[in-house]
Amino acid sequence: MPQIHRLDSRQADFRTRLDQLLAWESVSDEAVFTTVGDILADVRHRGDAAVLEYTARFDRLEKTAVAELEIPRDRLEQALTRIAPEHRQALERAAERVRRYAEHQKLSDWQYTEPDGTVLGQQVSPLDRVGLYVPGGKAAYPSSVIMNAIPAKVAGVPEVIMVVPTPDGQVNDLVLAAAAVAGVDRVFAIGGAQAVAALAYGTGTIPPVDKIVGPGNIYVATAKRMVFGTVGIDMVAGPSEILVVCDGLTDPHWIAADLFSQAEHDEDAQAILVSPDGDFLEAVAGAMDALLEHMPRAGIIRASLAARGALIRVRDLDEAVAVANHVAPEHLELSVAEPEAMARRIRHAGAIFLGRHTAEAVGDYCAGPNHVLPTSRTARFSSPLGVYDFQKRSSLIHCSAAGAADLGRTASVLARGEGLVAHACSAEYRIDPPVDDR
Ligand code: NAD
Repeated sequence: MPQIHRLDSRQADFRTRLDQLLAWESVSDEAVFTTVGDILADVRHRGDAAVLEYTARFDRLEKTAVAELEIPRDRLEQALTRIAPEHRQALERAAERVRRYAEHQKLSDWQYTEPDGTVLGQQVSPLDRVGLYVPGGKAAYPSSVIMNAIPAKVAGVPEVIMVVPTPDGQVNDLVLAAAAVAGVDRVFAIGGAQAVAALAYGTGTIPPVDKIVGPGNIYVATAKRMVFGTVGIDMVAGPSEILVVCDGLTDPHWIAADLFSQAEHDEDAQAILVSPDGDFLEAVAGAMDALLEHMPRAGIIRASLAARGALIRVRDLDEAVAVANHVAPEHLELSVAEPEAMARRIRHAGAIFLGRHTAEAVGDYCAGPNHVLPTSRTARFSSPLGVYDFQKRSSLIHCSAAGAADLGRTASVLARGEGLVAHACSAEYRIDPPVDDR
């Protein structure tokens, strides 16, 4: 039986134990901070030359110019023909679903007219250029390319530049094919903090971008945190999480696999099952035991469940909803008889999967909604990655003469109250007749 925490909401110390399990501090390793800071400064000052040196050192890839690290567009198209037909079909299907969902997220312009004739509104524009980091050190993540690039293209971003490390020059065809399917404009075979720096500051060859999105290891995450302000970033992601609420009537094997699907990501991942049915919780524990031996990543799953996994017994489903809202999980499965009614009571979750047939894993790859979601309880105040992350809003103000006179008086009073006389004059000059005390 895998080791996993067992909590019961009737226990006096329930909330304390739950909060201890939820606590997760991102590793802020002093040494990583220093290393990354040095790489960022070096790339900022020496540009291409520094990128070439770090790529040779960390990825064992020696080139004489950064232009040689650019993977040409026809190589992306070629990758599409090199991968297995079922892979191509799956990528294209996933891309189509993600694109269709993203189309619904577009922000739009709006305007209205005040009674004094002043027209007010919002004008939406896409970002000019976006950088997409795709991890490539230890594994390849084509789904990451789809999920990050497609919302940017739907937003109308004219140039999406992808960076992906290719250790020892090993290029992953699935990742390149995903870039072709998602409409990525340029790809550079670079990674780590040096790639984040190149995107943030620009080098002779790589143009600077306005925002950097996409996951990566501790060096990449630290670099993104440090360039924030010079460029925008999507988020600083923590470990993956799933919370399943079940009434006890779903096949325990399905739930066991759902919990494993996040636990297998890494040792810090969190898988929690909440149910009012104590026998069901034990049935799922038994199913996990049977399934574990078939899992290639059993070691990671075991470690994740032992450290941060939990089976939580609650009094009833109302209490399960309260627990889910407190946890604010990245992924929330509602494996109950009336999931819509329950979903309406959920206020904090990155993505909500309704009903017994909705496996979280389909959301990871191809359902349509984005798989880049708020983690570590940040769903309390943030949302999934979407088209709106690649769009900006500008306010529009167009005063009529009457509006200028009317608003000018109010602005003048407030400006003089703040002692800002130039502000006051600027508003008062447009008032007709002029105010007495000018
Ligand atoms: P990566 O591309 O993030 O990192 C590889 C780069 O790290 C190398 O190119 C190198 O430049 C740099 N690096 C390695 N060791 C270094 C050192 N000692 N000093 C300075 N730089 C160094 O690939 P990875 O390492 O395989 O990590 C991928 C990460 O992305 C994992 O942590 C994985 O969990 C995460 N991930 C998260 C999601 C998500 O949705 N949250 C999705 C996919 C991947």
